[in-house]
Formats: sequence, structure tokens, C-alpha cells
Amino acid sequence: MTNIPVLDDLGDVRGRRVLVRTDFNVPMNDGEISDDFRIRAALPTINWLTERGATVVCASHLGRPKGRPEPKYSMAPVRERLAVLAPGVELMENLRFHPGEEGNDSAFVANLIDGIDLYVNDAFGAAHRAHASIVGPPKTLPSAMGLLLQKEVGVLLGLRNQPKRPFVAVLGGSKISDKLGVVEALLNTVDALVIGGAMCFTFFLAQGKTVGLSLSEPDQIETCKRLLASGKTIHLPEDIVGLNAEGVFSTYGTRLPEGAKGFDIGPGSAAAFSDIIMDARTVFWNGPMGMFEDDRFAAGTRTVAQAMADTKAFTVVGGGDSAAALAQFGLDDEVDHVSTGGGASLELLELGDLPGLAALRGAPRVG
Ligand code: ADP
Ligand code: MG
Repeated sequence: MTNIPVLDDLGDVRGRRVLVRTDFNVPMNDGEISDDFRIRAALPTINWLTERGATVVCASHLGRPKGRPEPKYSMAPVRERLAVLAPGVELMENLRFHPGEEGNDSAFVANLIDGIDLYVNDAFGAAHRAHASIVGPPKTLPSAMGLLLQKEVGVLLGLRNQPKRPFVAVLGGSKISDKLGVVEALLNTVDALVIGGAMCFTFFLAQGKTVGLSLSEPDQIETCKRLLASGKTIHLPEDIVGLNAEGVFSTYGTRLPEGAKGFDIGPGSAAAFSDIIMDARTVFWNGPMGMFEDDRFAAGTRTVAQAMADTKAFTVVGGGDSAAALAQFGLDDEVDHVSTGGGASLELLELGDLPGLAALRGAPRVG
């Protein structure tokens, strides 16, 4: 696949020390792991290596420590869990305890690969970052992508390069500026774009509608105008639910009165979006349709999630909050692929490549 070495390309791994960059950035609650999905997702690669006699050393970041040790971001709870799931596997301390990780410092890389023979990247969620542990080791060590990374890349490049049509992208979430690049890129590949979440309000402003006090990004209005004028099919909500100026739950059309705040797509929009998903053959979904963390504003996201589960289309969900919403509704097993990387999945769809993949492609080959 796209010239990136895979585990088999590492040759005989017996007796070799293999550094595996994993994404163990698990959700933590009061010092406890609240979901070990990301640890379990790395097991196929870890087991592949240990079954063949390799010694595995894992390394990951956790949270956002600012380049120095912070006890609350210690890998200790992950190490404990890993010892149960994969006995005998080593785990380094949080990579971001050192400024050299995000700074992609060569001395830090040298330290990281001291005594290491081979490198495997299985951290899809971090593969869009040119950090030391992602792009450093493949400069000198024979390297490969792990099974999780391989699967993610296969699914997302498949979407980008040969989707079954109609191909529909459903986008939501809070910030449009985060996602404009991918919106533009997707417009060139998809047959229709469906927009909910707070994202829709900037499009409403571009259409000359009013959004009250809803979350919007006025500096992106011109971009939204351009996208709307592109001639591509963009579906926006026809109704919105939220709170009026007195804080009372209210339903609106697409012109929100002064003081109103929109927090979810309305029932009419949810039904329309659901129909579009049911009629598609490929659907990519990123970003909740509303503030689903609040039960009053979860209905739009729930309806879209249910349509993702029910449609015959090939369904892919990217994004941490979208995946959390699916799990909250108990539908995470009902879609074809839940990506472990939010930013990485968007960037791969947009650009067709990631810094971590380019680094592996350039790595020295075995033998
Ligand atoms: P993902 O992690 O799936 O990529 P984002 O991080 O872009 O998604 O956005 C998720 C957040 O967007 C959620 O916390 C949700 O509450 C928020 N959100 C969605 N719609 C609205 C809205 N209308 N107003 C405010 N916040 C919203
Ligand atoms: Mg998010």
C-alpha cells in the first residue's frame, strides 16, 4: 500500500528490540483509565511482534504536559493495564514530558532509539504530527507501520481514492476553522456534504440569515460564501433547537431571533440528514450535530448515529467526540470503521498523506 513498509518487511524479528510508537492517549478520570480502547487497539501489533520472538518497547504521549514531567500525566496507570493485556511489554514514560518530543529534537530521538533495532509506528492518532517519536526513528532504523495504522490508512485512503457513490460526508462539531481544509478537499470528492453542529451557523451567516448568540465564526463567512457558490451540493439544517433569550428550550427555523442560542439540529433536519445517509453508499461522519453531552441537545446526533448504524452504506466515523457519541448511544459496533484518530483522519482525507507515513516510506529497508 502506497510504498509504506509493513511488519512483514521487517524480516526476522527474533531477538530484536522493537520500539513501537503506540497511541495510548487514553481518557483518564481521577487517575483511572476510563476506556482502554486505545490500548486494546495496539494488541494485534504487539502480539504479532512478541509471538515472533521480539522484545517490544512501547512509547506514547498522554494528555498535554508542557514538555516537563507532570504526575497527573504519568504513564503508570497505562503501564499497569498493559502488564495485564500484554505481559512482558515495556512502556516508556510519557513522551511529552520532554520538550524534545514536540520539538522533534535529534538528541531526544537518539535517546529514544538507544539500544533499539527496529521501529514500528502504530499510532494513527499522532501520525499527522512531525514529532520526534513519529518522524525521528525511521531516519535511521528499519521501520514499518503496525497493523492498526495499516488498517486506518487503508480505510481512509480507500474513501479518498475510490469511494462507492453516492459518497456523502456529514460534518459537525464546534469549530469550522479547524475543519475548513477538509471541507474544501471533501467538496472535490464527495457527492454531497451535510453540515450540522455549530458549523452550520457560519454558513447561515454567509446566506444572510441570523443566528442569535449561537457559536459562529464571522471571520470564516467569506470562505463559506465561496463554498456555497462552488456549485457542489451542501445540505444545511432546516430547523434548529436551542435556548431562547430567557434560557427556555425552543425550536426555530433557520433565522434565529436575537438572544437565541442554537445547540442542535431540529427534528426536520435530523430526518432529512438520516434519509441522505440511508441513500448513500459511502458515508464519512466527523463532528456531532449538536451539544450531545447535554441530553436536551443529543437528539440530532442520536438520529444521525442511528442512520449510520442502519444504512447499507460503508460507514466511517472519525473524531474523538463523534466516536464518544456513538459509544454513548451503544452504536460503535454498528458502523464499519471508527477511526482512532480525529485530526489524523481529517488530514489524511484532505492531503492523502501524513508526516508519519512519509517518514516510514523513507526508512532504510532490511537486508
Ligand atoms: P470531533 O471530536 O468528533 O472531531 P469536534 O471536536 O469538532 O468533534 O466537536 C465536538 C464538540 O462540538 C462537542 O463537544 C459538541 O458539544 C460541540 N457542538 C456541536 N454542536 C454545537 C453547537 N450547536 N453549539 C455548541 N457546541 C456544539
Ligand atoms: Mg473533538
